[in-house]
Amino acid sequence: MLQKDKSTTTSSKSTTSKTNLNSTFSTGMDTPIQFVKGVGPKLGAMFKSRMIETVGELLYFLPRDYEDRSQIFTVSTLKEEVKATVTVRVVSQRLIPTRFGRSLLEVKCADHTGTLSLKWFHAPRGMEKRFTPGTQFMVTGKVKLYQGRPEIVHPEITWGVGGASDDDSSVQDHHNVGRVVPVYVELEGIASRTLRKVLWEALEKFGQQVPEDLPEYLLQRRSLPSVGPSIWNLHFPPDSPEYTLEALMEATTPAHRRLIYGEFFKFEFLMMRQKLNVARASAQAFGQGGGVNRVKELIQSLPFQLTRGQIQSIQEILDDLKQPHPMNRLVQGDVGSGKTAVALLTASCVLAEGSQAALMAPTEILAEQHLVNAKRLFAGQLNVALLTGKTSQLERNQLLQRLQSGEPILLIGTHALIEDPVVFSRLDFIMIDEQHRFGVDQRKKLKDKGNRLHSVRGKTLIPHTLILTATPIPRTLALTAFADLTVSTIKELPAGRSPITTQVVRDRTQRLRAYERIRDQLRQGRQAYFIFPLVNDSEAEGFTHLKSAVSQAEHLAQEVFPEFKVGLLHGQMRADQKSIIMDQFKQGLLHILVSTTVVEVGVDVPNATVMVIEHAERFGLSQLHQLRGRVGRGVHASHCFLFAGQTKEGSATSQRLEVLEETQDGFKIAEADLEIRGPGEFLGTRQSGGLPFKIAHLVRDRDLLLESRDDALAVLKEDPDLEMPHHLALREYFKREGTLQFGRLGTF
Ligand code: ADP
Ligand code: MG
Repeated sequence: MLQKDKSTTTSSKSTTSKTNLNSTFSTGMDTPIQFVKGVGPKLGAMFKSRMIETVGELLYFLPRDYEDRSQIFTVSTLKEEVKATVTVRVVSQRLIPTRFGRSLLEVKCADHTGTLSLKWFHAPRGMEKRFTPGTQFMVTGKVKLYQGRPEIVHPEITWGVGGASDDDSSVQDHHNVGRVVPVYVELEGIASRTLRKVLWEALEKFGQQVPEDLPEYLLQRRSLPSVGPSIWNLHFPPDSPEYTLEALMEATTPAHRRLIYGEFFKFEFLMMRQKLNVARASAQAFGQGGGVNRVKELIQSLPFQLTRGQIQSIQEILDDLKQPHPMNRLVQGDVGSGKTAVALLTASCVLAEGSQAALMAPTEILAEQHLVNAKRLFAGQLNVALLTGKTSQLERNQLLQRLQSGEPILLIGTHALIEDPVVFSRLDFIMIDEQHRFGVDQRKKLKDKGNRLHSVRGKTLIPHTLILTATPIPRTLALTAFADLTVSTIKELPAGRSPITTQVVRDRTQRLRAYERIRDQLRQGRQAYFIFPLVNDSEAEGFTHLKSAVSQAEHLAQEVFPEFKVGLLHGQMRADQKSIIMDQFKQGLLHILVSTTVVEVGVDVPNATVMVIEHAERFGLSQLHQLRGRVGRGVHASHCFLFAGQTKEGSATSQRLEVLEETQDGFKIAEADLEIRGPGEFLGTRQSGGLPFKIAHLVRDRDLLLESRDDALAVLKEDPDLEMPHHLALREYFKREGTLQFGRLGTF
């Protein structure tokens, strides 16, 4: 409470005293950084190029690292290769001309224990003048031994300092020595010590004015300090047991936890509010008009038994559809777990009651396969049609006609679905397969095609949305990036799946052995996939060493497996060529299918029992797991070989791949992926900038994520519009930043 009072009074005071500068700055935080001592035009421009233009933004330019300079060494105790700080006096200096006209500056200096040599290549002109014999200064850098003597090349110099414990205010550089000091991201041409000085100045002048926007009671509940002192302590850690170098590096200091909590809390609040808003919007309700019975009939006529996970997911979706509010649900389950079946069955409820539905898939192959599945499932009782880039103009026109006439129909397709001429008359249910393959805009476009004015109540109806993903969403992401979605999970695979053994293949001997095992499978009549990251060797400059599908198909066909038939499939081929190859593989006319990742989705060949992935180290674990899911679909045991170029056993890459040897649990794999590679893999193109966390880390800070989420939910429940006095600061924050931030959030 004290802190809050202090910050409010100081900020109001500073507003009045600043009228001579610019009366539009509402708080010190909006002050342009030029008003910080030490920020000249050059530094200002540098910061500007990094989107740092105000004092507030500057204060949030947080250190990326810390260095312990609390210990001051003497020259005789310096150790080779160790970065250290010593206080010395200049003994002598000389400029040694070099061949290129510029000089090498060498300064010999000493303390009472020994001498140290300092060197600068390309020393700025006139620099030597500062090193007059007898001048005392502090020097920091990594010590090298040159001909047995200690030297530091390009050291950091701190002038006019007598000693470490000197806290005399005349000591101008106490933010550079005698303490744990911050290390910032390198800004071109700007020394770390300059940044330290600027940050120090900014904190001195504006540090008291950082507005606290989280309510005091929440900080107390979580034993967190307020934001102003936290920012100060992040830049210049106090000498206290909670701020050891270790705690700073691991981001476990109270200051770190305060900022992490704040980032999570604000994010969760916005996401949960978004979810609430969607939940309040209107949608057509389904289920009362015979739709549920239709679903039951179709389930009865299936040639197989649904798994428990499928039944539960269908139930959850039907429950959502009964509500007059839009569903926003994600179904996650491994490749082959039967998600599409779930989606199609629930779509039948909507069609049976006279509305239209759309299923968008990322590739033509996949869309075509969905069509086959839907036709089989609907058994001629419900209408289904396909729209892709391949659809002829004539067919397309007829289709558009049917959509506009209001015919209840399931339209399956690719991006072609979201083109402008495609107009539905009553699209109430949209399904998106492999959501991470689509951008926010694309999904929104499809959804918008369903928005329509309700004829009776005059309300805008929003379609129900179902998202399918074979990349399991780790729990922390389900709570953040996907927090606006409700999740259904299909854990088990349908009965009749066979085990897959996985092996990381590292060297030539292992590779040759793997080829023999593959040959064995092919001789027994099985089939194999070989997956490559790129199509042509020249596709990505600088990665020419990567084995490409085109050249490797040749190599495999002629040299490795000359007795078998090899086919090639890649994304740059024409669609009709692709279907021909796919058909040949399905019919067993090809033994080996060499492909880029286009087969990742939409191939179902139970006779294929071998999956080989070249340059496996270039793929994410979840993607590898999905590729692997293409085998093990028949009665025969299957094998997956992860060919890893240039990885040694025990290296990080190698360990990463070993996760796949050990488990077939997609959720464990997803968690490992998140830990190793961050959230990018899961977000795909959904958020170009990724998650807006500067300091919070999803895996490391999971406990704070859960706490902040609980708190955000409680606030949302008690005071959704943040009208209570103790929430006003938070409301101010969201008014200022929230919409900006929110543009990048959410599923739609
Ligand atoms: P996903 O979309 O999760 O990869 P699909 O729905 O495409 O999985 O199902 C893969 C294959 O398994 C399809 O041929 C589908 O007909 C079949 N299938 C779906 N559910 C079951 C089940 N419960 N038992 C047997 N086969 C199933
Ligand atoms: Mg699928």
